[in-house]
Amino acid sequence: MNTGDHLIVDADLYGGSIRLFNHVSEKNGIEFSSVDCYKENVAGYIRENTKAVYIETPTNPMMNVTDIKALAEITKEHNLLLIIDNTFLSPYFQNPLDLGADIVVHSGTKYLGGHNDTLAGFLVTNREDISERFRFLIKTTGAGLAPFDCFLIQRGIKTLGVRMDRAQENAIEIAKWLKKQDIVGKVIYPGFEEHPGYEIMKKQARGFGAMLTFELTKKEYAFEILENVKMIKYAESLGGVETLITYPATQTHADVPEEIRVKNGITDCVLRMSVGIENIKDLLNELEQVFAKVRGE
Ligand SMILES: *Cc1c(COP(=O)(O)O)cnc(C)c1O
Repeated sequence: MNTGDHLIVDADLYGGSIRLFNHVSEKNGIEFSSVDCYKENVAGYIRENTKAVYIETPTNPMMNVTDIKALAEITKEHNLLLIIDNTFLSPYFQNPLDLGADIVVHSGTKYLGGHNDTLAGFLVTNREDISERFRFLIKTTGAGLAPFDCFLIQRGIKTLGVRMDRAQENAIEIAKWLKKQDIVGKVIYPGFEEHPGYEIMKKQARGFGAMLTFELTKKEYAFEILENVKMIKYAESLGGVETLITYPATQTHADVPEEIRVKNGITDCVLRMSVGIENIKDLLNELEQVFAKVRGE
């Protein structure tokens, strides 16, 4: 992208992407329109200088699902790049290039590495011109991955499929369990039939993933859950073998301006869980104990 270019970006995104756009790229003269790409007419935001559309599906943390094929039709018609951050589902569950995306971004730190022990990122494209440009930029900026990190990522990828299947199985159980709790107001998991993105996910992905977001009826409950979990770790990041729970309002999405955060639904009562591959009985036991304590039982 160059100074003066315009990008349409999803309103709900990984906090670090928003931080990069707002605090680095904008200062370099790139313009952004923040759009709920899953429900708004993206074509209406295209300007003379628009170069790309950048989305996540499902989004972090509100799990909004965008129809990739439908969006790709718009970007192709207007000669824009469609860039998709596929971190939440990994290549095991979703392949956006096959659905019309031009560039796919993955945080290798998450499911691909899978063990919370390395940092890595992937840029994937099926276009020769773009891949040449990436190669040039990586060679020039020196952002290549060190050999040991490559080793850790390759080790992680060997078990990607079994980890994702197991994590998803666990996530479905936990999502169902959470839904029955009186102190939980809302459980957002795209594998629930009532999720507005369910049908689209079924069409464009092979799974629903292992990320879920839920809202407590009071913010104090959210704090108490975070204070009392033991096996489940109160920590940022996601996609590893361990189950992690985060408080997006002050952790992963702290840099998102408050008005946008609240508009997106990331209230003070919201927790996000990255479900791991532990024994589901252990996970549910821990949740039972923690929730009983929170209720004062
Ligand atoms: C964590 C994350 C990133 C950034 O990845 P790092 O490897 O931590 O730089 C990007 N997108 C999403 C959706 C993420 O969850």
